[in-house]
Amino acid sequence: MQGQPPLLVARMREHATSIFAEMSDLARRTGSINLGQGFPDTDGPAEVAEVARACIADGRGNQYPPAPGVPDLRQAIAEHSARFYRLSVDSDSGVVVTTGASEALQSTLLAFVERGDEVVMFEPRFDIYAAGVSLAGGVRVGVPLSGRGLRPDIDKLRAAITPRTKVLLLNSPHNPTGVVFTRDELEAVAEVAMEHDLLVISDEAYEHLWFEDHHHIPIATLPGMWERTVTIGSGGKSFSFTGWKVGWAYGPHELIRAVSAVRQHLSFVSGGPFQYAIAHGLRLPDTYFTEFRQDLAHKRDLLSDGLARCGLGVVPSQGTYFVTTDVRPLGYDDGATFCRDTAHRAKVIAIPHQLLCDDSTVGLPYVRWAFCKQPAVLEQALDQLSTGLAS
Ligand code: GLN
Repeated sequence: MQGQPPLLVARMREHATSIFAEMSDLARRTGSINLGQGFPDTDGPAEVAEVARACIADGRGNQYPPAPGVPDLRQAIAEHSARFYRLSVDSDSGVVVTTGASEALQSTLLAFVERGDEVVMFEPRFDIYAAGVSLAGGVRVGVPLSGRGLRPDIDKLRAAITPRTKVLLLNSPHNPTGVVFTRDELEAVAEVAMEHDLLVISDEAYEHLWFEDHHHIPIATLPGMWERTVTIGSGGKSFSFTGWKVGWAYGPHELIRAVSAVRQHLSFVSGGPFQYAIAHGLRLPDTYFTEFRQDLAHKRDLLSDGLARCGLGVVPSQGTYFVTTDVRPLGYDDGATFCRDTAHRAKVIAIPHQLLCDDSTVGLPYVRWAFCKQPAVLEQALDQLSTGLAS
């Protein structure tokens, strides 16, 4: 070590930078509109924010909350799962509140993945999945989403399973593609999980962000799946407060006990006042969730139609904050080059799928655009794209 700076541990070196940080930095340097990182540019319901404010003023949650989360939030998570999915979640021992869905995911991977265990996931995938598997010393195995619609291919999934496969990491509504898995697709995935006795980690951060009849179905609701599934949710995504970092994991006691055992040694507890506020959010009437979806669907249409007018091939978005486009109609072969050029030509940032895949050919021609922005921002971005990409 003499004279040398300490090195990052080998297993984390490939994760030293993140595509979201890189592209947000490019946005700043080029003065671009950032449709890369997925966060809304308007805050969630005022009454939810008001609960957090009142809690801080009244001293509720200002000191360490209980490690698994404040009972009010755990109860609200259980009520929410019963109300939307008819799932019976034990608010005492079947839920753990975490510092965002990210910590729920990493704690779950750390709790179950032994060194050398394989974790299978569809590609492209959200970047922290790869980092989480590396942190745990596991081996990630990607299965490409396939065809023009970027759908899960069950034969390819089956072919990726080996005797070392321990975990199936699922994400629907899916980031970055905007695909929502159908009941048939989920049933086929569930069959593979049961056949090979796999643990399923289901990242459902975007559970309320689906459009038209592309209903979100938690895989834990399918026969035989509850006992092998840890389901992850996000207060940030469901209530447009991504900076609060309130997430959770729920499932059977034995699995949640293991997740909690790890999680208490990570961030230990998460922002108390925000937990009470998210509990309030989870109990909002159905109209909140319907109007939230309608607003996002309108923004999705605005951006998707504009991107199509610019000549991009739009893969219709069924959920999440994101729409995917194929860049080949504009004469590009790869999304990373397109994104770098577009930052300079049009001053708009998108995220290339290829950097969210191990096999970079899988996502080569696709890029992801975030539409969770104010209509005026989307319109400005589209103006810049139509001028910049044409020149
Ligand atoms: N989940 C968000 C996205 O996919 C934010 C990612 C990040 O900044 N790490 O854009």
